Amino acid sequence: MVQAEQSLVDLVKQEIPIHQSEPESLVLSDDIKTGLVLVDIVNGFCTVGSGNLAPVVPNRQISNMVEESVKLSRTFCEKKWPIFAFIDTHHPGKPEDPYPPHCLIGTDESKLVPSLQWLEDEPNVTIRRKECIDGFLGSFKDDGSNVFVDWVKTNKIEAILVVGICTDICVLDFVSSTLSARNLGLLAPLKDVVVYANGCATFDLPNQIASGIKGAVAHPQELMHHIGLHMAKGRGAHVVYEVSLGSIKEPRSNSSCCYE
Ligand SMILES: [Zn+2]
Repeated sequence: MVQAEQSLVDLVKQEIPIHQSEPESLVLSDDIKTGLVLVDIVNGFCTVGSGNLAPVVPNRQISNMVEESVKLSRTFCEKKWPIFAFIDTHHPGKPEDPYPPHCLIGTDESKLVPSLQWLEDEPNVTIRRKECIDGFLGSFKDDGSNVFVDWVKTNKIEAILVVGICTDICVLDFVSSTLSARNLGLLAPLKDVVVYANGCATFDLPNQIASGIKGAVAHPQELMHHIGLHMAKGRGAHVVYEVSLGSIKEPRSNSSCCYE
C-alpha cells in the first residue's frame, strides 16, 4: 500500500472506528446454538488467476480470510454444528453489473477453494448456489421458500458467525438483509449476527490502477474492508476480531486452545 493510501486508511479508522473501546470477541459454546455462514469462498474470488474477479497476485487479506474460514469450518464440523455455504454461480449471458462475467456455472471459478472442498461431503453443511450479490435473496426458491430461513429454523440457530468475501459487497448485503428479516420476526430463533473481521476480505483495486482502466471504479482493499465492517455494524451486526471456543461440554485434550 502506498503511503498516501495508508494515511487515508488510518484517518478513516480513526474517524469511523468499529469499536469505541475494547474490540468485541466471540466465544463459541454449546450453550448458544451457532451456525457458521461462509460467503462465496470460491476460486473465482479467492484463487490467484481464477477469472476476472480473482486476485492477480497472492493477496494477504484474502489468504488470511481463507485460512480463518478453514479453521472455523474444521471446528464446526468436529462439533457437528451447522454450516451454510454460499457459492456465487452465474449462468452465461446474465450479467451482474458493474462486474465482468465471473463464477460461471460448471467452471472452477464457481467451486469452493481447494482447502474447503471437503465441506461438500460433510453432513452438517448446507450449500446454496446463488445468482445475485445478496445471499439472503439468493436463497429464495421458485416455490417462495427460502433455503437460508429454513436452515436457521430447522437447526434452531440463535446466532450466526459470518465469514467470506467481499466484506463490503456480498457479506454486507447478506448481513443487512438477514438483520432486517430478523427484525421483522422472519428468522426466529435467530438473535445475533456476528461478522468476524479477520475472516472477511475484499478485493483490491487502488485508485491509481482503476483510473487507468475505462469504466473501472476504485476499490482500495483495506479502506473498503473497514467501511464494509462499519456499515455491517450500523445495520446491527456484531463485529469481532477474535473467535474462540469456551464452555466445552465434551472433554478435549487441548481445551485451552481456540483451535487445534
Ligand atoms: Zn456474482
